[in-house]
Amino acid sequence: MQFINSYKPLQTSKPKIKKTIVILFILFLILFPKANQSNLQNTLNYVDFKDFDNLRVLIDRINPYNTNLILKGANISLRYSTYQFPSIYQGGFYLSNQLTILNLNPVLKFYYDNNDSQMNEVSNFKDIMILSTNYLEYRDRKYRGKFFIVNKNDEYYLINLVSMDDYLRSVVPSEMPVSWDIEALKAQAIIARTYAIRVALERRKKNEVFDLYSTVMDQAYYGVDKENPRTDIAVQQTDNLIVVYEGYPIWALYHSNCGGQTLDGRLVFPTRLNKNENYLTSVKCLYQGKEWENKVETYSLKKAIEKLTKTRVYSIDNIYTNNFRTYIVYNGGVIYSLYNWEVRKFLGYSVVKSPYLKEIKIQGGYVNFKGIGLGHGVGLCQFGANVLAKNGFKCEEIIKYYYKGVEIVDKDRWLKNANI
Ligand SMILES: [Zn+2]
Repeated sequence: MQFINSYKPLQTSKPKIKKTIVILFILFLILFPKANQSNLQNTLNYVDFKDFDNLRVLIDRINPYNTNLILKGANISLRYSTYQFPSIYQGGFYLSNQLTILNLNPVLKFYYDNNDSQMNEVSNFKDIMILSTNYLEYRDRKYRGKFFIVNKNDEYYLINLVSMDDYLRSVVPSEMPVSWDIEALKAQAIIARTYAIRVALERRKKNEVFDLYSTVMDQAYYGVDKENPRTDIAVQQTDNLIVVYEGYPIWALYHSNCGGQTLDGRLVFPTRLNKNENYLTSVKCLYQGKEWENKVETYSLKKAIEKLTKTRVYSIDNIYTNNFRTYIVYNGGVIYSLYNWEVRKFLGYSVVKSPYLKEIKIQGGYVNFKGIGLGHGVGLCQFGANVLAKNGFKCEEIIKYYYKGVEIVDKDRWLKNANI
């Protein structure tokens, strides 16, 4: 960048005024820290907006009044920041292996090991950071990185700040069996990385306090115990690779098995995709899928339809499926139809295991569902990916088979020119 006019006129009395304004502003910040709270929240976002080497994963929501949160780790220690000094963490260092946080609101109360007679109390805290020299253990799961307890709108969140690589080392084996073909595992690593960036990007734009859920709500992240040398290799060998469509990370949806054909993402998730995103098309799959059968009480179905149609349902006369739609004939001839993925939403994802329904029948007081596949059926089919890998497909080819028109690129190179 060039400055055309670099000449500055001499200033005489102006610096004094400037100095006074600066001093007044600093005084204002000290006297009225809460007035500036929202700005401070922005500056204390732990992770830079474009830093995808670090992720904030939600581990749990916390009851601030009766917390009783127990964390373990070698030389575990709690640090806290205040509203006046939001980026400075205070707190001692103890040679302890366990930390108990009893209470968060209105006063933070915590103690180390079993010394509840040595209670620490802090009244004006903002955020809490918890560190250890090996792992942090919470509810029988060990995690790498740091923990934060963050308060937003009077809700408290336990967040694991973890590097992308450490996150993936746990996610890939949590989402795919480690015994599978290495090219399938590599494909899984690339799409899990892509999914994490895409979702983190969306949540950071909304200024949310975490990037990802640690469950299948986003991707299963079950900590250190899941890690395995084979999936570590898959993460390393695909280091920094992500999937983009027209220069933007894709919403890399995947599922267990599709039942023979994947579904069009624009149909199943019409509100979650941007208008130009056409990569989640329906493709034929080499894996035939696993069949399943489940039933629900007719009464539950009746209640679901009453909720959907906002009318009384006296009788369910017939129910059938065709071309991913379910047709319910009720009250002596009224037909209500909905997509099979909507049926899953209303009756439960573990009951209607996939939208690929083969047959629905009323039997006694029950409605019996027969189907094939497992999961929503959009994007990469994991079982199918493993079949492709066994047939000699490389991870990039597997990805391009299930996501149409995409490119696989280096994350940092993408980030340099990214319009986000
Ligand atoms: Zn499949």
